[in-house]
Amino acid sequence: MNIDWANLGFTYIKTPYRYISNYKDNKWDEGILSEDDTVKISECAGVLQYAQTCFEGLKSYRTVNNEVVCFRPDLNAKRMADSAKRLEMPIFPENRFIQAVIETIKANIDYVPPYGYGATLYIRPYMFGSNPVIGVKPANEYQFRIFTTPVGPYFKGGVKPLTIRVPDFDRAAPRGTGHIKAGLNYAMSLHAIVDAHNKGFDENMYLDPATRTKVEETGGANFIFVTKDNTVVTPKSNSILPSITRRSLLYVAENYLGLKTQEREILFDEVKEFQECALCGTAAVLSPVGKIVYNSEEINLPSGMQGMGEITKKLYDTLTGIQMGRITPPDGWLWKVE
Ligand SMILES: *Cc1c(COP(=O)(O)O)cnc(C)c1O
Repeated sequence: MNIDWANLGFTYIKTPYRYISNYKDNKWDEGILSEDDTVKISECAGVLQYAQTCFEGLKSYRTVNNEVVCFRPDLNAKRMADSAKRLEMPIFPENRFIQAVIETIKANIDYVPPYGYGATLYIRPYMFGSNPVIGVKPANEYQFRIFTTPVGPYFKGGVKPLTIRVPDFDRAAPRGTGHIKAGLNYAMSLHAIVDAHNKGFDENMYLDPATRTKVEETGGANFIFVTKDNTVVTPKSNSILPSITRRSLLYVAENYLGLKTQEREILFDEVKEFQECALCGTAAVLSPVGKIVYNSEEINLPSGMQGMGEITKKLYDTLTGIQMGRITPPDGWLWKVE
């Protein structure tokens, strides 16, 4: 193993073990850890024909005390169950999900980056329909897997604020599925993100498809805004993915920083009144946005242009401080692995 912890990007690096459990005859088998990083399924598998698949993403950290912890895996277990229900897939039991995540981290423990490099071990649980399906219906056999990969920052360039745009495309998620973490939502967002990058933007800000007046989210992260009087505001919509990072940041804002928070509909027209804007998610952590472009309109966030705004920085430092063991976490946020 020869990894340059300080210069990791957000790319796949194969680690020794992955967890695999198969669902057949209406039940999950015991599950194993395997060194085989390949998947063998029917050419007609439900996942290949009708995209019956969902996933999760979470991180494991080495703390300042050299403990290995995992951040709120219970919430990922719950959300994966919600995604599975919406896609007519069997639920992988939540307690088994948490156990399997911890087992998989333990098996790859040397790949949890050392404290102090800003790198983490990213954990990817996922599930897919594996038996042949040709008429449109759910599969009846599934595979649940977890792999891990060490990662650095999602956005290159440290805290250089992002420039994003509102695309002509509608919200990428097919109607009614935006609130689940599913491969099909991501496949539908690929054209918009490639087009954004070609035009020099880092990300897309999707608006609600029905009226195109309300802010939803980006392809893979939620929005957090800060008003001029330091209230932390975040969009309320049932077609955005309920980000665990966002829920954690709102808790931190209220209970650690004494700030007011609001989850409400946010009109695009209000965005120019905000003081700060950032993207939040497991991969993005909290990435400041400096500029938002919508056709010929250009919004420059006053405290986003130089780096992180003042409140964004406080939220970032407190959340990462909790994750890295420098600040006392709320009960149940850090699960000890080793
Ligand atoms: C995963 C994801 C997020 C971020 O959620 P976290 O739980 O904070 O990682 C936001 N939006 C979409 C569409 C996602 O898939």
